[in-house]
Amino acid sequence: MSADKPGAAGNGPEHAGSVLQRKLSLVDMLDPVTFGDVVDSLGELYRVGIRVLDERGRTLADAKGSNGDFCGFVNAQGEGHARCTALVARLNEGPLAPTQGAQVMPGGSPLGGELLSQPCFTGLRYVVMPVLWEGDVLGRVVVGPFASEELAELPASLGEVPGLDLARARELTANVQRMPDTRVTKMLAHFAQVMAALLAAGQKSYLSGQLHLEAMLETQRELESQNAQLLRLNQRLKEADRMKSSFLSTVSHELRTPLASIIGYSEMLAEGLVGALNPEQMQFARTIIDKGNTLLKLISSILDMSQIEAGKVRLAFEWVDVQELVESAITSVMPQAQRKGLTLKAQMPPVVQARVVADREKLRQVVVNLLANAVKFTPTGGKVDVRLSELGNQLELGLAGYRIEVEDSGVGIPEDQRERIFQSFYQVDDSPTREYGGAGLGLAIVKSYVEGHGGQVAVTSELGRGSCFRVVLPKEPPQSSQGLAFIPPPVDMDTEPERF
Ligand code: ADP
Repeated sequence: MSADKPGAAGNGPEHAGSVLQRKLSLVDMLDPVTFGDVVDSLGELYRVGIRVLDERGRTLADAKGSNGDFCGFVNAQGEGHARCTALVARLNEGPLAPTQGAQVMPGGSPLGGELLSQPCFTGLRYVVMPVLWEGDVLGRVVVGPFASEELAELPASLGEVPGLDLARARELTANVQRMPDTRVTKMLAHFAQVMAALLAAGQKSYLSGQLHLEAMLETQRELESQNAQLLRLNQRLKEADRMKSSFLSTVSHELRTPLASIIGYSEMLAEGLVGALNPEQMQFARTIIDKGNTLLKLISSILDMSQIEAGKVRLAFEWVDVQELVESAITSVMPQAQRKGLTLKAQMPPVVQARVVADREKLRQVVVNLLANAVKFTPTGGKVDVRLSELGNQLELGLAGYRIEVEDSGVGIPEDQRERIFQSFYQVDDSPTREYGGAGLGLAIVKSYVEGHGGQVAVTSELGRGSCFRVVLPKEPPQSSQGLAFIPPPVDMDTEPERF
């Protein structure tokens, strides 16, 4: 490491870039309590002051020595105080070089660099050891003041402090620890060893902690960015969906008007209102009416679905004779059933069915859609059964209600498709050459209308043998008390068609 790395001047998590690119500080690496204890016990053992400062001059640990009385006495004099303060500033922040009277001690420093011996104007002495770690100066250790072994007389500089009682000062020096240079260097070698061990352990745990934190922050940043991207995508999808609904609604509406005229005029032709038609003309007119009606149904389904998706469908609840409603639905699919040679039978409750609350038109459409599918997906000669239950408690709903079942002996639905057929535009056979017509909307409309009534729809099926659609409805939908209720649009993105 070197001092000119990016972010080298500081420490702490506010710095940009990885911790691996930063120069660490003593504060990062040393646990203040443990380190403080080590310094205190060493100071006590040698009876000498030890102060450890980081490279910004901040004190990390400070053990008092045996010089307190003497220094306090000298400091009590203004001049003594001023000189002491200047010297302490030099020791704490001055250059780690032999300037201002400091001298290099022979033998070098145990942590690298040089030991400096700094005399004090009182005759005492300090030793300064730089803290070098992986080539960087991270701080310094200041030992002292202590009395050197050779100190015999107090120096003349002390006598320059006005008002100082020299005799008393001399007395007090006796309390100050005397230390030969060998003892100081031995103590520092010992301290350097302990400090190196603490720094190595501290560096390791600080780096692993910080790297872990960085990894977590990075993961969080990635998640946040993915989240933002998903939100944007979601918004775009919603917008696309809204546009799709509005497009379908406009197109369907614009198609329906001319189509109604086509059917109307063809019917007038077929009824001979503009003159009798020959058999071939009559057949053509009937084909136009037939195909026109199929197209009209398709357009109506698209329009219904776009209204549902736009949340614009309202249910108008009223009292309905459900038996009559089912019979009317059967009547409307009977011609197709007969054309295919299907047996279409209804099983009604033995007792007269009580009336229920429902949106008559929507509920009729539910039954018609299920019946039309049963007829469509059942081959010639097959059968379709419609069953209406009596009113009674419905376990699924926990309410009084009834069931309508439409069972056919048709092609059946593969198991893995049984959920998806209720999604709009989903068809089991979606190949361009598919056998059955339709837009894949009938069941999506059924599901929305049934759920709008507070009911449920489900299917059981056996491939190649037939299907049974079961609708269970409450006698009075919970929301029916409002008279009118909006059907909430399908909200779940995963209920969206996969193959539209
Ligand atoms: P459509 O009938 O217009 O294709 P639906 O939403 O009514 O659309 O039905 C979706 C799909 O569910 C159909 O294409 C068909 O594959 C399957 N399906 C629905 N009813 C039956 C049924 N009675 N028997 C077999 N398959 C059915």
